[in-house]
Amino acid sequence: AKPSFRWRRVLLKVSGEALAGDHAQNIDPKVTMSIAREVAAVTRLGIEVAIVVGGGNIFRGSSWAGCSGLDRSSADYIGMLATVMNAIFLQATMESIGIPTRVQTAFRMSEVAEPYIRRRAVRHLEKGRVVIFAAGTGNPFFTTDTAAALRCAEINAEVVLKATNVNGVFDDDPKRNPNAHLLDTLTYHEVTSKDLSVMDMTAITLCQENNIPVVVFNLSEPGNISKAIKGERCIHIVAE
Ligand code: UDP
Repeated sequence: AKPSFRWRRVLLKVSGEALAGDHAQNIDPKVTMSIAREVAAVTRLGIEVAIVVGGGNIFRGSSWAGCSGLDRSSADYIGMLATVMNAIFLQATMESIGIPTRVQTAFRMSEVAEPYIRRRAVRHLEKGRVVIFAAGTGNPFFTTDTAAALRCAEINAEVVLKATNVNGVFDDDPKRNPNAHLLDTLTYHEVTSKDLSVMDMTAITLCQENNIPVVVFNLSEPGNISKAIKGERCIHIVAE
């Protein structure tokens, strides 16, 4: 029998910023390797792991839109392509330590990766493979946080685990306000009404409507991915 952990199937969201670490280039191989090692350890325990990768370390559509005639949709497609680069890098790292991993893209790039097929993604997970969802939702004007919430709901994962560079959610910007407090538990309503930067509104609303809890944790602290995946309470849950 499988040992009982809090979650059986999780959706891990890794932002592009988290992948960048402190490396001069866009991706820090130390970061991808530590993600791979921790994910390997939990998949061996029988927990199914799907990952949504961001692309902000390479290209963020919203910050480029408007520059030199670049319209928002074109900028966003470039951003989505950036997530595919991260996904392939992460896949290669995972496979280098023996974790079977599939990348599925939200729009077709069939020479490079599988297209997103929900049932196929679920089948991979059931077989113990890690699935990385790339290209966000496939639509401009969305974010990879929204893709994380969407894929989580689609594949019936139980939680979105959001890897960040901070220790959790503060009630104010800790860089500007030294008295900012780290919040322990908060509700979807608090996130949206106080505009706390857990996720964008579209993503958080999608989680709320589908009762998906969100756990925010600091990726740069070793062991945190396993803790989050095993449901050890080092962190912050958004739930009503
Ligand atoms: N993007 C998009 N649609 C999506 C997901 C992402 O257009 O469904 C684009 C958007 O331009 C975004 C970029 O891809 O800025 C990178 O994704 P995101 O900013 O969410 O990455 P992260 O902040 O997690 O690194």
